[in-house]
Amino acid sequence: MNPIQMVDLKSQYQKIKNEINAGIAEVVESSAFINGPAVHGFQSALENYLSVKHVIPCGNGTDALQIAMMALGLKPGDEVITSAFTFIATAEVLGLLGLTPIFVDVEAHTFNMNVAEIEKAITPKTKAIVPVHLFGQCCDMEPLLDLAKKYNLFVIEDACQAIGADYTFKDGTTKKAGTMGTIGCTSFFPSKNLGCYGDGGALFTHDDHLDYLMRGIVNHGMFKRYYHEMIGVNSRLDSIQAAVLSVKLKHLDEYAAARRNAANFYNEAFVGNPKLITPSCADYSSHVFHQYTLRLQDVDRAKLIENMNSVEVPVMIYYPVPLHLQNAFASLGGKTGDLPVTEALCNKVISLPMHTELSLEQLEWITRHLLKFL
Ligand SMILES: *Cc1c(COP(=O)(O)O)cnc(C)c1O
Repeated sequence: MNPIQMVDLKSQYQKIKNEINAGIAEVVESSAFINGPAVHGFQSALENYLSVKHVIPCGNGTDALQIAMMALGLKPGDEVITSAFTFIATAEVLGLLGLTPIFVDVEAHTFNMNVAEIEKAITPKTKAIVPVHLFGQCCDMEPLLDLAKKYNLFVIEDACQAIGADYTFKDGTTKKAGTMGTIGCTSFFPSKNLGCYGDGGALFTHDDHLDYLMRGIVNHGMFKRYYHEMIGVNSRLDSIQAAVLSVKLKHLDEYAAARRNAANFYNEAFVGNPKLITPSCADYSSHVFHQYTLRLQDVDRAKLIENMNSVEVPVMIYYPVPLHLQNAFASLGGKTGDLPVTEALCNKVISLPMHTELSLEQLEWITRHLLKFL
């Protein structure tokens, strides 16, 4: 049995090695390292896949979130409502731009923002909502979008963990994660569901003016060569990464299916065990299982981790500290008890290995040892 890893990019590469190597060689031969045909080709392939009018490639997912806030003209003091049960980047960019993150609680079963809590947090200063489609499942976007419309708020989707997930509206239409709000953001960090071999990210929008603004912002606020209309950033996806992504995009649905198979195996093994709550799958969203995250009931989590590690099974806690209790946000005055659901989750979640290359043998090993420990 191959060693079990949280993410196994090496085995995945072995299967697509020829295509990837050819794509990279083509970029190197052409020497069009920045903004070359590979980037344009990937951009249109992704626009097609997502059915979104514009994909704007950029340097990483964190930049994408920052560029979105800049393009929307958000100003210091503006309030932006988001989740505290996410990776720091979601709210970090708010801090960088002087915007005020307002953290609201999540639903215990989906780990995603609770729409009723969002409405309670809206004030005259609120300008935007940032839903995070955590672990690969969409937030319940229809009521969230209705709320945003009612209060005239922007919606910036953090789709860094959910590329490819489908949301189904009440009328039966479906849309991809990241294409429902004003702007969607994603990351191509290697371990993400669509990952490159370095850093990368992208913004999505249906709005022509925002597309225009964001293409300028990623390039130093420059719309005409050496004429700078605004302060921008330097954030680009390089051609080598785009070549890798073009190959991997073709496999994305197949990769999601492999992740779902692994999740089903876990679910079936754990069904009925009172100490484990398996991830819930909402009827309004497909799940692309960026992570497979269990909630533990009356289990010593530290002991579980130690035990699993002793049989060579890595497990991770996503996330141990909610954002409102991070030192980086101490100035906001968040305290324990503010977000009870989020805080409880931080104390009882555990994520198992999840990637496209998990073998039956590995899945059996993981589930057998976890159940034995319990
Ligand atoms: C990975 C991630 C980001 C940041 O993406 P980078 O490409 O690492 O900058 C932001 N938000 C979420 C939810 C993420 O998982």
